[in-house]
This record gives sequence, structure tokens and C-alpha cells, in this order.
Amino acid sequence: MAELFYDDDADLSIIQNRKVAVIGYGSQGHAHALSLRDSGVDVRVGLHEGSKSKAKAEEEGLRVVTPAEAAAEADVIMILVPDPIQGRVYEESIAANLKDGDAIFFGHGLNIRYGFVKPPAGVDVCMVAPKGPGHLVRRQYEEGRGVPCIAAVEQDATGNAFALALSYAKGIGGTRAGVIKTTFTEETETDLFGEQAVLCGGTAALVKAGFETLVEAGYQPEIAYFECLHELKLIVDLMYEGGLEKMRWSISETAEWGDYVSGPRIINDGTKAEMKKILGEIQDGSFANNWMKEYESGLPRYNEYKKADQEHLLETTGRKLRKLMSWVDDED
Ligand code: NDP
Ligand code: MG
Ligand code: MG
Repeated sequence: MAELFYDDDADLSIIQNRKVAVIGYGSQGHAHALSLRDSGVDVRVGLHEGSKSKAKAEEEGLRVVTPAEAAAEADVIMILVPDPIQGRVYEESIAANLKDGDAIFFGHGLNIRYGFVKPPAGVDVCMVAPKGPGHLVRRQYEEGRGVPCIAAVEQDATGNAFALALSYAKGIGGTRAGVIKTTFTEETETDLFGEQAVLCGGTAALVKAGFETLVEAGYQPEIAYFECLHELKLIVDLMYEGGLEKMRWSISETAEWGDYVSGPRIINDGTKAEMKKILGEIQDGSFANNWMKEYESGLPRYNEYKKADQEHLLETTGRKLRKLMSWVDDED
């Protein structure tokens, strides 16, 4: 059984007695910096020359310095810049400013798991990863709640790294909801697998294939959009509340019968074999290495895929339909 930690298990004074640098002020960075500050923690934000988010951080009353200055001042350094550039930011601004006893923190394990960042032996290496987007992390904190987090220690140089990670998680509201203990390896591999096979990749491909099948058979794109994309939210909400069981309790018996007999024909042994291959490429590092190469060469294939899907009939139909649906909120 996974180990869970709540407010009473975490000592906020540990992080209150440290100096924290939050490097990056995007989705996660703004949530961590503001909530730690509101939890009574000494926080500075590290941002590069010409950063678009600098003005926003300063408007909120945060002190913004360069990533190198932030790392030099602080003894807990949380890296919240995009994953593909963390290696570079670490080399350029952080490595030289790490002292024995410092701690380096991550919101996702990729750079440690695949060795793109290699911290020295004398520092604690921790992860506090909220299981939700940064804007929700901040909103929940302000409302007295929190987003569940996972926490991990890759290197426990001081002997107190996990207590420090829990204290940090408390500072952003995580222990209000619950913190699950994991490892960098488990977090990285399951996160990449989940988003590729199920949450983002699998779901997007399923929706597109279903939509195309109906449209190619002559049905109206608007009807196909409702059936294959719009209604997905209603089904997923039921699963979220009560698992497959609650979803099946709510749908008609006809839908439930179709679910049992047709679902396994769509996601079949071949699909699962492909999932295992995808997991293999995550575990052996080839996915991460290919992604880094793509990023460093200026994202040519990424941009091609993105453009093709933006022009897909599913998306052009959806854009038109959502404007007509007053109850759908398309703003973020
Ligand atoms: P964002 O893309 O939202 O934010 C990136 C931030 O880094 C921006 O403030 C950007 O500044 C800044 N930045 C870019 N380059 C540099 C640099 N060279 N030096 C300093 N700052 C720089 O990132 P996310 O919050 O999405 O991701 C951060 C980490 O959190 C990642 O490890 C990610 O995996 C993890 N994570 C993210 C989640 C999410 O909700 N998005 C959920 C859980 C984990 P500017 O834009 O001003 O140039
Ligand atoms: Mg992810
Ligand atoms: Mg129906």
C-alpha cells in the first residue's frame, strides 16, 4: 500500500528556516513561489534575461533575480523551467552555486531519471510534483485546500531530505490533500506512460479515429463531434467520481452491453502489445533522448503534428460548435 502523508505528518518550520529559490515563473513556478511566500517562507524567483513572466512576479511583490543569483542566495533550489532546458539552466546557473547541504528540487523526474542533470553527492535531491496544473495548485491553496502531490528523494545527503520535501509540499498546500511517496524512476516512467498511452495520446487518437469513422460513413461532423468528443467529459466525470462501476450504473443497459462486447475489440491484445513497447522505450531512455534531439533541432516534427491536428475537421468543427454552446467555457 502506498504511503500517504498529511498536514500533521509535515513540519512547516523546516522549509520556513531555509532560503528557497524558485527558478521559472510559469504554470508551476508561480504557484510554488506565491504559496510558499504566503506560508511564511523566504522565497526569491530566478528568471532569465528578457523573461516575459518577470513583470508578473514583481507585481505580486516577489523579488526576481537571475537564476544564478537565486541559486547562490538560496539553499533550496526548485527548478521549474521547461523540462528540455533544465539541463542547460542547471549547467549555466545552478551547478556552480550548489554547496554541500543544499537541496535541489524538481516538479518532475525526467532530468534526474535520464541523467541530463547530475547533482553532486553533497546535496539533497528531491521531488515535489503536484498532480494538477499550476493554476489549480495556486487556486486550491488560496481557498484553503490543496492539490495532491507526490514526493520523492533521489539522494539523501543530509539524512533529512524526505522531511524537507514534505515540509515544502505543506508550504504549497499539498499535504492538505495528501502526499504520496514515490521514486524519481516511478514518477517519471508512469507520468510519461500515462500521458502517452492513455491520457493525452491514447485519448486523442481514440477520439479522432471515432470521429473519422463516423464522418467517412457520411454522418454529420457536428453529430460525430458530440458523440466522440463532447460526451467524453460526461463519461470521464462519472469514472472520476466512482470508477467504471459508477459510469456503468449511469449509462443505459444497451450502452453497457456495447461497452463489454465492443470495447475490447478497440483496445485489444495488439494495442496492449504496443503499450508495452511504448513503456519499453520510456524505460530504456530512447523516448527521452529522441525528445531532447527533437527539441534541440528546433521542433520540426512537433510543429508539423501540431499544425496537422489544428486543421483537422474535428477541431474546425469543434471550434464552431463550442461558440454556439453557451455552457462550454473555452477560456483558460
Ligand atoms: P512553464 O512552461 O509554464 O514555465 C516555464 C517558466 O520558465 C517560465 O516562467 C519561463 O519564463 C521560465 N524560463 C524559461 N527559460 C528560462 C531560463 N533559461 N531561466 C529561467 N527561467 C526560464 O513550465 P511548467 O510550469 O509547465 O513546468 C515546470 C516544471 O513543472 C516541469 O518540470 C514540468 O514537468 C513540471 N510540472 C508541470 C505541471 C504543469 O501543471 N504544467 C504539472 C506537474 C509538473 P518566460 O516565459 O517568462 O520566458
Ligand atoms: Mg507529464
Ligand atoms: Mg449515446
